[in-house]
Amino acid sequence: MSKGTVFVVSGPSGSGKDTILTEVFKKRKDIFFSISSITRDMRPGEVQDGKYHFISKAEFEKGLENEEFLEYNKYLENYYGTPKAPVEEHIKVGDDVVIEVDVNGAKAIKEKLPEAVLIFIMPPSFEVLLNRLSRRGTETQEQIKGRMEAALKEIAVANMYDYIVINDDLSVAVDDLLAIMRGCRLKLKKQINIIDEVLKNA
Ligand code: 5GP
Repeated sequence: MSKGTVFVVSGPSGSGKDTILTEVFKKRKDIFFSISSITRDMRPGEVQDGKYHFISKAEFEKGLENEEFLEYNKYLENYYGTPKAPVEEHIKVGDDVVIEVDVNGAKAIKEKLPEAVLIFIMPPSFEVLLNRLSRRGTETQEQIKGRMEAALKEIAVANMYDYIVINDDLSVAVDDLLAIMRGCRLKLKKQINIIDEVLKNA
């Protein structure tokens, strides 16, 4: 059996990556979503083991000592990490895996797993991104400015990704992501056994 593919999905705040991934997971229930372990407090509406597994700093640091993370980062005094074991277990049995991380996490994963496929969700323009962030109404002007600055930095390093999905029309973006995933499944090395199987029965 061939191994599954690790898809690393990144994109600036306001790019719509969560919405796209939610739609993709409705259509591809066979893909495993990597739940990050994090140490910040739960926000209203968040649930344990939804997008994140909330743990204490002490637990996270123990995990670091035991090399339990594929990659990790510290933002604003909180740790965020991708647990290694679930990702390895799923790709071993042929499942595809999606890891949603920022650009630093994506770089670290590519270094450890060179076969990982990196996908960047891009807003159609900077103006659209600004409009989306402003329309959300959840952030102050100061926070919007900070997110736009962070977005600029992320977009500037998007050239290290394998694919760019432009999120202008949501359904097109969802189809594009599904097409990338399907294309990866059709690669020769994922289907090498079929050659022998067909020849064997000839
Ligand atoms: P938030 O606290 O707003 O949910 O996330 C803060 C940042 O942490 C976001 O940029 C998010 O992409 C990033 N993040 C979430 N999970 C992980 C992870 O497992 N590893 C890394 N490196 N970053 C993560």
